[in-house]
Amino acid sequence: MTSSLPPRKKSEGPLLWGPESASPLVSEAAHFERWRRRTWQLHLSVGLSHLYALALFLGHAWAGYAPLRAVLWYGLWIAVGMAFITWAYASGWSQKRRDPGLFLEHQLMSISGVLGLLVVAPQVAFQALVMLLVFSADGFLARRRTSFWLTWGLTLALVAVVICWRGPQMRMVTDTLAGQLLTAAVMLGAVVRCSMLVTYFRGMQYRLSASNQKLAAALAHIEQLARYDELTGVANRRGVLERLHLALEGVQRHGTPLSIALLDIDHFKSINDQYGHGCGDAVLRAFGSLLSTEMRAIDVAGRYGGEEFLLVLPETDIPQALVLLERLRQRTQDMPWDRLVDQPVTVTCTVGATQYQPGEPVEAAIARADAAMYSGKALGRNRVIIDGMGG
Ligand code: GH3
Ligand code: MG
Ligand code: MG
Repeated sequence: MTSSLPPRKKSEGPLLWGPESASPLVSEAAHFERWRRRTWQLHLSVGLSHLYALALFLGHAWAGYAPLRAVLWYGLWIAVGMAFITWAYASGWSQKRRDPGLFLEHQLMSISGVLGLLVVAPQVAFQALVMLLVFSADGFLARRRTSFWLTWGLTLALVAVVICWRGPQMRMVTDTLAGQLLTAAVMLGAVVRCSMLVTYFRGMQYRLSASNQKLAAALAHIEQLARYDELTGVANRRGVLERLHLALEGVQRHGTPLSIALLDIDHFKSINDQYGHGCGDAVLRAFGSLLSTEMRAIDVAGRYGGEEFLLVLPETDIPQALVLLERLRQRTQDMPWDRLVDQPVTVTCTVGATQYQPGEPVEAAIARADAAMYSGKALGRNRVIIDGMGG
């Protein structure tokens, strides 16, 4: 059996049941395998309920309520139908159909068999009508709304015709003990079959909610990946700019101060050149951890460019920012880099900071921090510059 499934047209309406109702987290092959297994299980359960129904019809014949010949013809019809559908599944022929679950074939075989029996043996009408109800409950397996309504409409119309035609001979056989037992068995079969359907539905509901939860977790993970820098472990440019815009709301709403800083590793190119790109990466990784541990919980650090970081410091005015940034600069210089990256490197950074002025475009504040950082570079690096003033 191949896993190539026929494309679904929009006009087919919502899919009630079919191989494409896949969870987005399951591979197509795994999903197809699961669908195939479920199709076989359903087919087996339909087969078993036909066997049970046939046994009851034979019981009716044995108790003298129905002609044996009619029951045997019914059995033959169902056997041929089930054999055909089994062959269609096993050979892969069903995969060429618009509905690989063969809902219409299943329903037509079952319903026509029961209706036929109802015509030739109206004495067993009770069992036949209960069976029709049970088969109609299988309607949820319809791949398309049209198949669903077609089988329902056709069944109802034909049942009405047969009832008008054979009504006077129709019976519920409860006049003998055998008849009573058979009628009770009919009800038992119907209740068991309906319970199985309910259990099946419940299972589908649980699976759906479990896969929804997995989907939500995967989405959260993707959101996280979209906002974090893999190498340094801090936010990426998009993440830190988002947090910066959130912090701006705090300024506008509560009038709290907000400082921002740009921090650039000094002579990073020469680290790469002397010790290799791997060593440069290791420095960036360790520097990211340093930022994560040194910053306060409300602060956000994000990788703004190659070896350049943007720091968002909410509820922080310039004197407070200066303390924090100076400590960061000092810690960068004091880190045991040779042990951290296995190379005799020295790493320092230059920081430019500014306080956001309410109402100004955020780009203007970033540009000021950038200018301050560049003036720090010009002044000899490894220093914190606040808006052009030495720190
Ligand atoms: P300055 O002190 O003026 O900032 O000098 P610099 O060498 O640090 O600055 P420059 O802009 O000349 O070089 C930055 C280098 O950072 C160049 C680029 O190859 C390197 N770089 C950018 N991203 C990465 C990265 O992810 N890994 C590594 N190893 N290097 C990177
Ligand atoms: Mg640099
Ligand atoms: Mg740079």
